[in-house]
Amino acid sequence: MFVGHYSVAFAIKSDKNRIPLWVLFTAVQFLDYIWATLVLLGIEKLRVIKGFTAGSMLDSYYHPYSHSLIAAIVWSGIAAMIYKSVWRAKASKAAALLVGLAVFSHWILDFIAHPRDLAIYDNTWKVGLGFWNYRGLEFGLEVALLAGGIVSYLPRNTISAARKTAVIAFGLALIIVQIGDTFVPRAPLSDKATAMGVWIFYTLFVVVAYLLEMGAHARILNHKQWSQS
Ligand SMILES: [Zn+2]
Repeated sequence: MFVGHYSVAFAIKSDKNRIPLWVLFTAVQFLDYIWATLVLLGIEKLRVIKGFTAGSMLDSYYHPYSHSLIAAIVWSGIAAMIYKSVWRAKASKAAALLVGLAVFSHWILDFIAHPRDLAIYDNTWKVGLGFWNYRGLEFGLEVALLAGGIVSYLPRNTISAARKTAVIAFGLALIIVQIGDTFVPRAPLSDKATAMGVWIFYTLFVVVAYLLEMGAHARILNHKQWSQS
């Protein structure tokens, strides 16, 4: 699963919980950030094999610390605690719980896409529904999830028409990235280069998510104060 993960970030964000979208973008890929870091450190292992599955070249044969079910639960709890402690003054317990759920959603969506490479604990009892074996189906799922997330985001967040257009444009850009990832043939990168790519692309998306909401809350507040006076 790739851009489909961001559907959860869009679906969770609302005027009520006010979790920054960039925080949710980080949360839904938190496990992959840990994974990419551990691959770069040589602790978790990855082979990049052309045609490994129809929709992905990744043979993640050893990733117990980032992608086992038990690890995912632990990281979700840690992320919720980080959110609550860093945003202590403003964040509610419910918001921290949502951040934890956003992190855990990564494992659920990976479970749908991955072949049997997700361990329940450590490196044993591996599961995965293997949608990556069906390229069109998996691509359709990614796009449908992302579109659904954005459709639920738009009415639940008070943002200007220009910002709404920007959110939709970003969604389309993510779909183009997914088309490139799924359908455009390319030579397999090394494990380390793949991990670097994950860091670079995911962080780029986090920055865009930040820019999409930059100043939005302040402007809504100003508007309310102005209309009350
Ligand atoms: Zn993952």
